[in-house]
Amino acid sequence: MKITDVEAYLCHYPLPDTFYPTWIPGYPQSSNSCLILILKTDEGIEGCCASVGFLDEAKGLVSLLRPFLLNRDPFQVEDKLRMLRSASFLGYRGWFAEVALWDIIGKATGQPIYRLLGGGPDKILAYASTGELHPPEQRAEEVLKLKEMGFKAVKLRVKAMQMRDDIELVETVRQAVGDDMVLMVDANQGWPIHGFGPYPRWSLKRAMDEARAFEELGVRWLEEPLYKHDYQGYAQLRASTTVPIASGEFNTDLHEFRDLISSGCLDVVQPDVTLSTGILNGKKVAGMAEAYNLEFSPHTWTNGLGFVANLQLMASVPNCPYCEYPYEPPGWVPQARDFMLAEPLLVDKEGYIAVPQKPGLGIELDMERIRSCSEQL
Ligand SMILES: [Mg+2]
Repeated sequence: MKITDVEAYLCHYPLPDTFYPTWIPGYPQSSNSCLILILKTDEGIEGCCASVGFLDEAKGLVSLLRPFLLNRDPFQVEDKLRMLRSASFLGYRGWFAEVALWDIIGKATGQPIYRLLGGGPDKILAYASTGELHPPEQRAEEVLKLKEMGFKAVKLRVKAMQMRDDIELVETVRQAVGDDMVLMVDANQGWPIHGFGPYPRWSLKRAMDEARAFEELGVRWLEEPLYKHDYQGYAQLRASTTVPIASGEFNTDLHEFRDLISSGCLDVVQPDVTLSTGILNGKKVAGMAEAYNLEFSPHTWTNGLGFVANLQLMASVPNCPYCEYPYEPPGWVPQARDFMLAEPLLVDKEGYIAVPQKPGLGIELDMERIRSCSEQL
C-alpha cells in the first residue's frame, strides 16, 4: 500500500460563544481552528488526523510534510516517525500526522487502533476538563451540574494572581460537591503564552505551598505547576507533597519523557499524541511510565479528532485511570469541539467515554461541515 495524496484543510469553525482559555491569558477565542489531513492510498483506504491550526504555519507544515508522506507505505510507522522527527528539526510539529497512518492500518485490518496496540477497556472514566477561570461560587454551581450529568471527576483551572484565590476556588468547589467527586487542578504553567494579558508565574515555593494546601482538599493531581523543562523543580516539588504531580502535554518525543520520568518529576505522565509523540511513541512513553509505576493520562485538548486519537491510545495501556474530556460551555461544547466528526463524542450517564469500535480511529468525518469552514491547502 502507498500514500498517493495528502489533502489538507485549514478550518476555523465558529464557536457558539467566545471562549477564554486560561492557557492564553487575555485572549478571546472565537473559533475551533485546526489543520485536518486526509491521507489517501492506492487501495482506496483513507486515514485522517488533525492538529491545532495556525495560518502560515499550517501552510508551511503541509508543504513540509507532503514529501515525507507521499509514495510511502503507511504500515511503516517507525520509519514515518523518524521522518516526522526529522521534519520537526526543520521547524514544525508534525507528530499528529502519524495518527492518520494508524487510521489507515486500522481500516485495512478491520480493527480499532486500541485493539491493534494491545487491547483493553472499551470505555474509560472521563473527567470534565474546564478551560476558563470562573468566580468560585459560579464554578461550584457548574461542577454540581457536571455531577448531575454523571461526571465523577472534574479538572479546575487555577490562574489567580494571588495564591489565596486559587485555594478559595478549590475549597468552594470541594464544599459544594462533597468528597465523592474527584477534583484535579491545572495551573497551566508549562508553556505560558505571553503578550495578551497578565497572568501569575509560579515559583517553586508557590507551587509547593499550593500543593500543600491541595493535600487538605483531596486534590487528585496538580497539573503543570512549573515550566515544562524545569525537571529539577518538578522533582523537588514532587518530593515535597503527597499530591500527585502531572505534566507533559507540551513536552515532545521520547527523550524528554525519559528525563521527566527517570528524574522523578511526575506521578501522572501526560503526552498528547498530536502534540508530543504520535500514537506509537505515546505507547512507548506509557510503557516507560508503567515501569516506574506511574499513571498515564494523555492531554486531549485540541479538537475532536485529536481527542479520539488520544482515546484510542488510552484504551490500549494498563495505566490510564482517566480520560480528559474538554468541556466548557457555552463556548467549548462537544458540537463545536468535534465539528469535523459526523457525531460528537459524548460521555454516558455514569461518566464514561466509550472507545469508538469501528476500524481505525473509529469515526467518520463530516466533509460538508469541514468544507464549509475551511480553506483547502
Ligand atoms: Mg493541562
